[in-house]
Amino acid sequence: MAKADAEKKLRVKEEVPKFDTALAASYNDHIRPLLDAVDRLRHLKVMQEGIQIPTIVVVGDQSSGKSSVLESLAGISLPRGQGICTRVPLVMRLQNDPSVVEPQLILEYRDKNVTTTEAGITAAIRVATDEMAGDGKGISNTPLTLVVKKNGVPDLTMVDLPGITRVPVHGQPDNIYEQISSIIMEYITPKESIILNVLSATVDFPTCESIRMSQQVDRNGERTLAVVTKADKAPEGLLEKVTADDVNIGLGYVCVRNRVGDESYEQARAEESCLFETHPLLSQIDKSIVGIPVLAQRLMQIQASSISKCLPDIVKKITDKLNQNVSELNDMPQNLSTVADAVRVFIRILKLVRDSLEKLLIRGEFEEFPDDLELHGTARIAEMLHKYSTRLPSSCPFNDELFLMEEIRILEETNGIRLPNFLPRSAFLTILRKKVDKISEMPRELVTDVWGYVEGVVTQMLLKHSQNYPQMQSSSRRAVRNLIEKMRSRSNKFVDEMIAMELVADYTSNPDYMKTWTGLMEDQNKFLLAIEDHEMPTALKLKEFGEVQVGHLRQFAKLAEQAFDMRMRMSAYWRTIVLRMVDGLALHVLYNIKCLVETEMETELVNELVGPGMTGIERMLEESPSTAGKRERLQKSIKLLKQSKDVVANIIDRITTGIK
Ligand code: GDP
Ligand code: MG
Repeated sequence: MAKADAEKKLRVKEEVPKFDTALAASYNDHIRPLLDAVDRLRHLKVMQEGIQIPTIVVVGDQSSGKSSVLESLAGISLPRGQGICTRVPLVMRLQNDPSVVEPQLILEYRDKNVTTTEAGITAAIRVATDEMAGDGKGISNTPLTLVVKKNGVPDLTMVDLPGITRVPVHGQPDNIYEQISSIIMEYITPKESIILNVLSATVDFPTCESIRMSQQVDRNGERTLAVVTKADKAPEGLLEKVTADDVNIGLGYVCVRNRVGDESYEQARAEESCLFETHPLLSQIDKSIVGIPVLAQRLMQIQASSISKCLPDIVKKITDKLNQNVSELNDMPQNLSTVADAVRVFIRILKLVRDSLEKLLIRGEFEEFPDDLELHGTARIAEMLHKYSTRLPSSCPFNDELFLMEEIRILEETNGIRLPNFLPRSAFLTILRKKVDKISEMPRELVTDVWGYVEGVVTQMLLKHSQNYPQMQSSSRRAVRNLIEKMRSRSNKFVDEMIAMELVADYTSNPDYMKTWTGLMEDQNKFLLAIEDHEMPTALKLKEFGEVQVGHLRQFAKLAEQAFDMRMRMSAYWRTIVLRMVDGLALHVLYNIKCLVETEMETELVNELVGPGMTGIERMLEESPSTAGKRERLQKSIKLLKQSKDVVANIIDRITTGIK
């Protein structure tokens, strides 16, 4: 244990070289440009792009002495006192500048740059804080930046955060603890952050809220450095506390004494140095871990190594993010500024839609949507046609309880003065009408199905190809609806005509008809025999109709013969009717889909969008607010990333030329 302690002290000692002039010169050459680059990145707010930069984050419980430590490092006075004084993150950029006589202080927040003086800084920070977090006791996570240019300050950039309070003081919001811890977590979670944990010597370290929080994000303390303040107030046991290291501080401890009361900066340093030299207990603590100058050195070292470690990654992240944003911007729809632009885009969309529809609905090429079966138009339409043709009964639907009685009744009604074996045409047309009526709904159903389906596909293609121009989608949808309505009524008219034509006459040139009829009539003799010869069995087996009973037909004699003839004609003719209904309608549907894709869709869309006064096209010129917003965001971010890239490119150049 003692040996390990000794080694630890030794290590710390080696890591803290004296700040001599040679070192200062090399520091100015090598480290300073890195720091400037990182500060410029921070200034550009590259963090908004999700790119973290190495930052020393000061955390600590309320009144642990955070602001006092910063003061000591900067050699200036900051707002101090009871309650929370630090209500917004304060980025402090300390810049050593031997040329300045009077310290230069610039407070940057929102878009302001306020130059101030040592005497005015406390008030200026208060004004800025009030402006950003309200003048009550509220807090905010938007940082303000204080640039301190002074001779002799360490080159450091640190962020002071509001102290952690468990119990809200009067006037603070109830959830102050949650608000503050979420700000602290936001700053200390990134791996690039160095946590400067400020602990008061007067408290038991393991009870500190800030220790608990930093351990959540840095369990082994690899990026945590502890500053123990108020060494003057609680010297007893301090040495033991920092050597025991109960709280896992990987980067070690530095014990300090800050300015007390109205002391000047110089007085405070002298008091501190005297305290650690002469105090019976404090003087036993190794000199390599006491005093503000040691703290400054340690921080500068940690900062420099952290920056050089992180920089390559930062460069990569900036480049990646920039490329990503540029390609995202390029993928965005072009912003239309003239009617000619809009017309061009409209024509292109029309062409894309037409190409897709030709493939899906006409040619049956599905490579655009291999997995979306619902869009495979030719296949789906073929299925509908097939279903339709199988639903149409392939043999004529007779529905008689008693064989041929339907025909007998019709023949009785159309009875006239004529030869007994003469089949009246009006009787045949009557039965034809009855049969055709039975199936007339089916072609109408097909029409509804097909056009409903086509409407879906056309709409989907239009939406897909015009997705970047949501302004034109409602009028396009309307155009498609009108168009399909037109097609549907055209097809219904076709079906009406098709059925009406069937009823005008019984006609076919199909030789199949005669063949079928002749075949069926071969049973005629057998049938007539069973009717005329009452000795014959009344059950009879017929080709087309299977076993039938004919006993009831014997009383009708000649009429039964005519009825038989009529049934056989109707049966033979039925096949022709079904064929015509299927083929005719199928060709009609296919032809009209082709017309729709090739000409009518275009006509309808042009009428709707370019139509009266070009209102549809003009609407395309108004970019939707969300697209405009996204474009603006990307452009802003690209500008910022380009600037950041320049910053890091410069610094990388300097490093590589420096090495040569
Ligand atoms: P913060 O809330 O963490 O920013 O703490 P402050 O810096 O405001 O300090 C809280 C109080 O502790 C102030 O009154 C300081 O003067 C006092 N303080 C800070 N550091 C020391 C120190 O090293 N010694 C003494 N005696 N007082 C200190
Ligand atoms: Mg403070």
